Amino acid sequence: MKYEDGVLHLHQSDLCNLRMCPEQTRLKLTGEYFDPSGDSAMIGTQTHSFIEFCLFKRKNENIWPEPEALQQKVDELQVEWAQMWEDNQIWQHPHQIESMEQGQAFIEQACLNWWANCRPAFDDLDTTDWLIEHDFDYHLGWINARAITKAEIGDMIQNETFGDFENRTEVRLRGQIDFFASACINDWKTSKAASGYNLWKLERYDIQSYVYAWAIQQELGFIPNFIYHHMARGTDEYKFNLVEATQANIDAMKQEIMSWAQTIVTMGTEQEWPKGPADWWCSSRWCSHHARGLCVGSVNQIFPEDAVNLTRLMK
Ligand code: SF4
Repeated sequence: MKYEDGVLHLHQSDLCNLRMCPEQTRLKLTGEYFDPSGDSAMIGTQTHSFIEFCLFKRKNENIWPEPEALQQKVDELQVEWAQMWEDNQIWQHPHQIESMEQGQAFIEQACLNWWANCRPAFDDLDTTDWLIEHDFDYHLGWINARAITKAEIGDMIQNETFGDFENRTEVRLRGQIDFFASACINDWKTSKAASGYNLWKLERYDIQSYVYAWAIQQELGFIPNFIYHHMARGTDEYKFNLVEATQANIDAMKQEIMSWAQTIVTMGTEQEWPKGPADWWCSSRWCSHHARGLCVGSVNQIFPEDAVNLTRLMK
């Protein structure tokens, strides 16, 4: 999230963040939140690089990489990972990745999992409309920091001054689509257990698919389907979920985002925003403010041993 020069830029992850803990989002906006690259996120980043490499080869040269090239790419990604681990560039979450070697094994497994379970679905597709790691940044709407009174509107019309409207905030939504092909968005997830991703949960809570479907609608004029591809870390388990967005889903998503945007602009960042709800397990696993002992949030009975020392990353 970024708010400057009258433009509020939001990313779908900001929306997930706002729903889970508005205060953490405020800290990110003010720059007070220490946001290191986490180990599990880096497994995902390396896997995305592998997939991107394969898809660009197929799109640009109309062939998939040869087995030696695939192995070479995995080796490169593992060496990069080892370097980041050795250089202490990665925040080692408790209970996530136990060692540098385990991380390397997870990267290889996730790449092979995608190659074996996911890639065959794209074998016969025409590559002309493929979008790979596609950035978007679109105007969503305008908001005023406060409601304008009737009298002010009268003054504005009479004096032909529209100062307050000129000071309004533009809301923009941006993000990166992993892969678009044949009227469908594909998103790669490397998670702990693929089986935990159920369609009903996505339909009830997910916002990413609707944001991305809206972005393609802006660009190509139709609402695409959205497929989550889940590749479980450390196993060959694979699962996909198809989310079919409707115009109503997209309109509701836009209203939710505009209401968050209004809240952000109206409240400002001086005062604390609400913390995550009591049933949200604040944990050092996903909140560095918690890990640094700066916020305890709600009491965490589940992972009491989570306290980690981040000082080595903050030199
Ligand atoms: S510890 Fe909990 S309440 Fe505090 S900032 Fe982190 S997620 Fe929010």
